[in-house]
Amino acid sequence: MYDAVVQNVKLLENDQLVNIGVKNGKFSSITKEPIQGRNTWNGNGGLVLPPFVEMHTHLDTAFTARSSQNLSGTLLEGIRLWQERKKQLTIEDVIERGTEMLQLLIQHGVLFTRTAVDISDPNLTALHAALQLREKFHDLIEMQIIAFPQDGLMRCPENLVRMEKAIQLGADAVSAVPHLERTRESGIASLEFCFHLAKKYGVFAHIFSDEVDDGHSRYLEVIADLTIREKMAERVTASHAIALAYYSSAYASKVISLVKEAKLTIVSCPLINVAMQGRFDIFPKGRGITRIKELSDSGVNVCIAHDDIRSPFYPYGDGNLLQAVYMGAHLAHMTGSEQTVKLIKMITNNGAKAFGMKDYGIKIGNCANFIVFPAQEATDLIAKHPPCTHVFRNGRLIVGTKPAEIKWNLTKFCNLNINLQ
Ligand SMILES: [Zn+2]
Repeated sequence: MYDAVVQNVKLLENDQLVNIGVKNGKFSSITKEPIQGRNTWNGNGGLVLPPFVEMHTHLDTAFTARSSQNLSGTLLEGIRLWQERKKQLTIEDVIERGTEMLQLLIQHGVLFTRTAVDISDPNLTALHAALQLREKFHDLIEMQIIAFPQDGLMRCPENLVRMEKAIQLGADAVSAVPHLERTRESGIASLEFCFHLAKKYGVFAHIFSDEVDDGHSRYLEVIADLTIREKMAERVTASHAIALAYYSSAYASKVISLVKEAKLTIVSCPLINVAMQGRFDIFPKGRGITRIKELSDSGVNVCIAHDDIRSPFYPYGDGNLLQAVYMGAHLAHMTGSEQTVKLIKMITNNGAKAFGMKDYGIKIGNCANFIVFPAQEATDLIAKHPPCTHVFRNGRLIVGTKPAEIKWNLTKFCNLNINLQ
């Protein structure tokens, strides 16, 4: 007898229906044979996946702009608006909005998230709130905190001290925004500082890299080089990498090889970047995202993330990662069935790798973290982004969503004899 059984579900890699048995919070059985549990749920032939890993969120900016305030739609106006809003931050305010964000993520099947908190604040208010939330939500979602210097490191030297303090207080990753520093040299210095701290404290580095429609922004190669020189393979992530899309094919090919050699993870945020980038372009306008397909085809670990939710940087979003994948599939021209499976890996296994998880995936002996969707195959997830009907954390059902029921109130339609139920 198992503690919990989920019947009639399909694994992504296998077309056959299986039953999943859980004991002591671990996967104990994955079988076609009928099995008994103290608690049993019916997956109704739906797809079962390991939980989503959301590699780029902002706990502190979430829901600070429920209506669109950023009239130009640019990153620079977003930063200006955020600079004003963050003066009013309190721990209670961040906890309230952060709680809403985390609940939405969990409802959509995210059980692991890496979230950035702006440390350009003498009181480190957002960081303190995030540390409290990490603790409060510990049994529901695993959170890694990025100490993120939105105002830069070299152009805001107080952030050099705050960054180290943030790590001492418990942040999991250091960060830099080299393209927002005053000069190329300052950008490189900010990266060197970041890698120095990451090495000193044994934390991840998660850089916001080249988030600009400018082929002259060439920090990704510096990040790859530092990762190789500092022997930090699989410990470094670069988000955005937009400029890579603007490089000549010859230079892009060199950078992609370096990224692969360095074992970097690249996180693309198609929703916010397609909305924010290309604002300075004349027609034809850039697509605003990095070379997702080319990086992935070269064997680079690529993730897709949602990024901001209802903030001065992006006015939409409800924490559903499938929306980001949907946008990514279009913009990256990845609509074939094999590519669709690759896209789903970008919000599951690839994120788990960057997160440093050892115990991830639907395998006997692993922690029983899994999610169920009313879908037959990966394409359904992207085409319909259906609700996540079951979210299991360590073998316990923590939340579920019932698909909407549509009821026609007609018996006949346009004089055609169609039965409407
Ligand atoms: Zn972001």
